[in-house]
Formats: sequence, C-alpha cells, structure tokens
Amino acid sequence: MLGLYVHVPFCSAICNYCNFNRGLFDAALKERYVDALIAEVREAGLKARATNQERGADTIYFGGGTPSLLEPDEVARIIGACDDAFDVADDREVTLEANPETVTESRLRAFRDAGINRISFGVQSFREDELRRLSRLHTADRARQALAEARSAAFDNASLDLMMWLPGQSVAQWLESVDAAIALEPEHLSLYLLEVYPNAPLKEDMARLRWSQAPDDDAAAMYLEAMERLETAGLMQYEISNVARPGRRSRHNLKYWIDGEWLGFGCGAHSTRAGVRWKNVASTEDYVERIGKGQPTAIDERRMAPDEALGDALFTGLRLVDGIDLDAMRRRYNVDVWARFGADLEPFVDEGCLLHEGHRLRLTRRGMLLAHEVMTVFV
Ligand code: SF4
Repeated sequence: MLGLYVHVPFCSAICNYCNFNRGLFDAALKERYVDALIAEVREAGLKARATNQERGADTIYFGGGTPSLLEPDEVARIIGACDDAFDVADDREVTLEANPETVTESRLRAFRDAGINRISFGVQSFREDELRRLSRLHTADRARQALAEARSAAFDNASLDLMMWLPGQSVAQWLESVDAAIALEPEHLSLYLLEVYPNAPLKEDMARLRWSQAPDDDAAAMYLEAMERLETAGLMQYEISNVARPGRRSRHNLKYWIDGEWLGFGCGAHSTRAGVRWKNVASTEDYVERIGKGQPTAIDERRMAPDEALGDALFTGLRLVDGIDLDAMRRRYNVDVWARFGADLEPFVDEGCLLHEGHRLRLTRRGMLLAHEVMTVFV
C-alpha cells in the first residue's frame, strides 16, 4: 500500500536550528497552496488510473513546517482529495504534525472530525531554558496542555518529538524531559539528536554565548539511558529514533524504512514508486505557480540503478530494531547481501555493533550509536 505525504511549509516563526523546507506563514499564499496541493493529488490519481498503477493507500501524513497552521476544513479538503484520487483504506492512519502553541481543544476536535486520527506534537524539551535556547514558541506547560486537549478531543494515538544533545544540556537535564514525556503516557515518541548546521543561527548563538554540546560519551549516555527508561515504561524501541506502545508504530514512517512506496505532495516533497524516485521543486511560490500553469512540479526524476535501490533498502532497513531480512533482500534484489558485504561488515559484528543471526542482520543498541559508520558499507 502507498503512503501519501503532504508537505505544509508554513511556520509562525523560524526556529534557530531548523534546516527543513519551510517559510513564514502567509495567509494568502497558504490558500493558494492548499488549492495547488489538491490539484496535485488529483493529477496523481488520474495518472495512476491512466497507467493502471496501484492506487491503494493506507496512510496520509501531514508534515512540515507546521501543518497545524492549516484550518481543519483545509485539512478535510486535502483528505477528501486523497480519497477521490486513491483507494485509501478504511483503517487508515492519518497523522498531523502539530506545534503545541497552534492548537486548542476545539481546533483539535475539528482536526479529528476532518479525519486526522494520529497527532504528533513537536515538543523538543520539557525545560523552559532549553525551549528558549531553541527559540521555540511554546512552553513546557503548553505542550502538556496540548496533549491533554488532544485526549479530550478523542485522540488515542499521540506522538511526541524530543531533541537531545542540546547546547548546554547535561545528561540529567535531558533525562528530565524523557521522564516528563513518559509521565504523559504518549503512544509513540521520537528522539532526535540535534544537528547544528553550519549556517544555522543557533550556531552563532552558541559561539556568542559559549554554549556547547556535551562530549560524545555523554551523548551516548543520553541515548542509551533514555531507551532504557522508555522501554521500562512500555514504549518499545522499533527504530533508531523511535519507540512505541504495541500496535502504535508509525505505519507511515515504516514505509520509508521497509523499502515501501510513497507519494509526496507539496513543495520539496519526495516520492518513491516502482523503482523511480523524484522530488518536487522546493520553493512554495514556484510550486504554486507551476501547478497553476499546469507545468510539472517534479524535478530530479530518475529510475534508481539496482545497486542504488539495494543500497538504500539496506541503509534504511538497518535503522529498524528488527533489522534486515536477508532472504527477502535476495528475493527482491537477487543479491546475496552477506556474500557481497560480509567482509566489510564482519568487523562490526566482532565489535558487538552488528548481529548476523540466520537470515537477519541487525544493529545492537550500542551499534545504533555507530549506525552511520555501519551503513556507509552499503552506499
Ligand atoms: S516549527 Fe519545525 S519546521 Fe518550523 S521552523 Fe521550527 S523546527 Fe522548522
């Protein structure tokens, strides 16, 4: 089944560390953008029908940016367009990424009525000093209230994002946020390591105010201890950065890790289907204009070479706690993965970072700290 991704590039303010495809909220542009999104979804459905491609989908994911800046009726119209263009399963997962300061109980109820059944809050930290340092607009209390409002609005599937290894953050301070998240009993949690990009305003703040990130050993301790505490609380790790209660893994995001297929709509959105990969133009204005003129929005469309597709499948598959099924890889790509890569992978097995058990290859938790080094074997 396909996953449908809808990109919403608008934010109320730009966070000092952000490297996503986003811009400041502009009400007029947003209205044109929603119309353009609907047109793109319709066109994709027509194309799939005309070429006899599978139109079954089971997830819709509104990512951003800040998708919760859309109005609920706009979200309903986009979901309606997905339903018209594709065969979206009744037991669909429909996620909305939301920033805590953009929601109220009535807005959340309206999103629920519009068809959203999973909400993912960008919390990042439960410490006020850290939220200010990241230039976030919400407080820790607002994040708590937002989740309570979501519960009142009948959301029984909620995820929280937290960021670790923040400037000036100690291991104990990080664990405060982990414990605060656990206390709220979300169904799902994503933990991201802060990456400070070269041109991020945060980098300048760090230099000016002498904030630094903790040593690597502390970053490792943050990760390992957080995973221990989360699993003790019933949130089981299933991917390098993600934990969930049973049955609450992100079905949409799993498509990226299990070599699945998805269509992305909106500016900068990526798609992968039948061995072909493409992305849309990044600029919001350019995207809207192209749709208005009936011009293609996709750039960089290309069929992946078999080795590239295999490398990607291994690279992403290894992110999962269950790892890679080597038999399935052989069936799909006609390649004996261990015969091809075993010599380069053996040192990681010897170091206790990688397990090669029967037909499965998977990272140990310690190996997840070095995942990037292991994965580069495949690309
Ligand atoms: S809200 Fe998210 S997408 Fe928007 S600027 Fe902040 S980090 Fe970036």
